[in-house]
Amino acid sequence: MENIYDVIIIGGGPAGLSAGLYAARGKMSTLILEKEKAGGQIVSTEEVANYPGSMQNATGPILIDRMVEQCNEFGAKFEKDTIKDIKVDESIKVLVGEKATYKAKSIIIASGANPRPIGAPGERELTGKGVSYCATCDADFFTDLEVFVIGGGDSAVEEAIFLTKFARKVTIVHRRDELRAAKSIQDKAFNNAKIDFIWDSTVTEIKGDGIVESVVFKNLKTGETTEYTANEDDGTFGIFVFVGYIPATEIFKGIINMDEVGYIITDDNMKTNVPGVFAAGDCRVKSLRQVITAAADGAIAAIQAEKYIENELE
Ligand code: NAP
Repeated sequence: MENIYDVIIIGGGPAGLSAGLYAARGKMSTLILEKEKAGGQIVSTEEVANYPGSMQNATGPILIDRMVEQCNEFGAKFEKDTIKDIKVDESIKVLVGEKATYKAKSIIIASGANPRPIGAPGERELTGKGVSYCATCDADFFTDLEVFVIGGGDSAVEEAIFLTKFARKVTIVHRRDELRAAKSIQDKAFNNAKIDFIWDSTVTEIKGDGIVESVVFKNLKTGETTEYTANEDDGTFGIFVFVGYIPATEIFKGIINMDEVGYIITDDNMKTNVPGVFAAGDCRVKSLRQVITAAADGAIAAIQAEKYIENELE
């Protein structure tokens, strides 16, 4: 018989896993689809200090592993697949993946967001060869080397602090003369002797033959450009980019209502413009993108999906 799930959740980050936990615990047949491995952005976070109740020294992966375990305990299923298209105009929704086609009475989009590149020449070619978007994944490669962190938000400053455990020196390069990061995080960075700052500057080019060898900064106030070249003994250095995120919502364009930059518009109950389709977490328009708000969105979306199936589905 054809398998029609009560709910399919697209994305296995904190929003998707919370939705999965609530849906499965509510006895809905639940499938969580994830491209590779469950986790989302939080997996690249070394310390989750602001999720209430998280254990001391809880890392992103530890928190995610427990969320996955909880979903499994209540019977949610997991599949690895990349969804390419959705058909949501009928009561049974169809999700077309690379490996299979899936059907459900309701869908929760928890597709999250991906790191935004700077857009400088050389950046793409040298990604994984000195340019990184994940300190937890790559910090170790830069043990005793120099590292530049691009950006001035919470991610950039927190990851810069983390990188000081490995790198000889960490320089935060920010396009303004004031950080965006929370004051408590800023204070830690200003008090860290290994962290230096280059203000009012952006990266205009990253150069290297198979590995990062130099980077060109432009001072936005003076227009002056400066090229930093790797120390001869080191031969290379790291460039960690944390300049925000782009919502992973491309495939829903024209189907689900979004704002001008691609964040999905929902009401307080996580409902999108399409009955039976909900969105949760970083992929939707919201004022605070954190694990705690993603988890809350996921719970609300699952409960609303259950109500939709009980009361509205024809
Ligand atoms: P963000 O808050 O959007 O900050 C992005 C930073 O990159 C800003 O400083 C921005 O500069 C800079 N930037 C943007 N585009 C740039 C470009 N093209 N070139 C150079 N710089 C550029 O992003 P985020 O730090 O990744 O944080 C995302 C969300 O997660 C936020 O809501 C944040 O609070 C949250 N978060 C929270 C924690 C925590 O609570 N512990 C940790 C990590 C992230 P301007 O400042 O000039 O705009």
